[in-house]
Amino acid sequence: MDTVSLTGKELAAAINADTKARAATLTEAGTAPRLALVVANDDPASAWYVNSLRKAAERLGIDCDRIDLGADASADALRAELAARSADTAVDAIMLQTPLPEGVTLDDVSSSIVATKDVDGVSPLSLGLLAAGLDGFVPATSEAVVELLKHHDVPLTGRHVAVVGRSNVVGKPLGQLLLAENATVTIAHSRTVDLPAVTSAADIVVAAAGRIGLVTGKHVAEGAVVVDVGTNEAADGGIVGDVEAESVRGKASALSPVPGGVGPVTTALLMRHVVVAAEKARAE
Ligand code: NAP
Repeated sequence: MDTVSLTGKELAAAINADTKARAATLTEAGTAPRLALVVANDDPASAWYVNSLRKAAERLGIDCDRIDLGADASADALRAELAARSADTAVDAIMLQTPLPEGVTLDDVSSSIVATKDVDGVSPLSLGLLAAGLDGFVPATSEAVVELLKHHDVPLTGRHVAVVGRSNVVGKPLGQLLLAENATVTIAHSRTVDLPAVTSAADIVVAAAGRIGLVTGKHVAEGAVVVDVGTNEAADGGIVGDVEAESVRGKASALSPVPGGVGPVTTALLMRHVVVAAEKARAE
């Protein structure tokens, strides 16, 4: 079977073109949209990602501040910074980078990001709004999976989707978004018994576990669609996903590449969220 590549570059380019036009309209009307990136680590992968977000923002006409609190910042310092940016009317959007300092969890600090600026949907309020089916910012990676599938005309209504991973950042919010699309959702995790049997029963498999090569040909039914969310550092320093592409290709009907699949759509949606936040703030 031919396995179609579910690339994200064209979709990301279309989203970015719209975002750029909307950012220009806001700038012409007074001020450019402004994103605050709050960082509290000295992780090279995070620094690379922050840099790529800054470049993406710059290309789209979004102002971007990097606020570095240092890798030993306390939960109190992070909460204070996030609360200050939440109250600052010059800031439209806030993103908190991970990893956080040792001993500090996202749950300790994320509620200090006001929901109207929480463009990656990490706060308990944003996650609760999503679970209740109410309007709010949705975690961009989860949204990217759904948008990528729709872009490639993969039907979701009535389809059985198996999501591997149950984090608050990807797996759980993705489950909510897929339910809203009328899919039948199974969420698997590290305690799932017989993962290959669970995922082989699905029409669509989404791998979001952060484990290189976790999903192989034996995890996937003939003709299934596979989305790889994983971004893991390979031995050669490159980025690899959670799917063993060699054994899945030829069996699946479609597979998203890493890099070039979910990743560019995630960044594009984050930037779109920044513009949406700014538009709403200006309309108040
Ligand atoms: P995470 O917080 O570490 O969660 C991983 C999840 O996978 C957990 O629910 C864990 O189960 C499950 N898991 C781990 N090993 C497993 C196994 N052997 N079998 C079944 N389930 C297993 O990771 P995350 O933040 O959700 O990120 C997941 C992946 O997505 C990572 O590679 C990350 O880099 C990537 N990511 C990509 C983007 C993007 O834009 N492309 C954005 C964000 C994240 P338990 O709950 O039982 O521990």
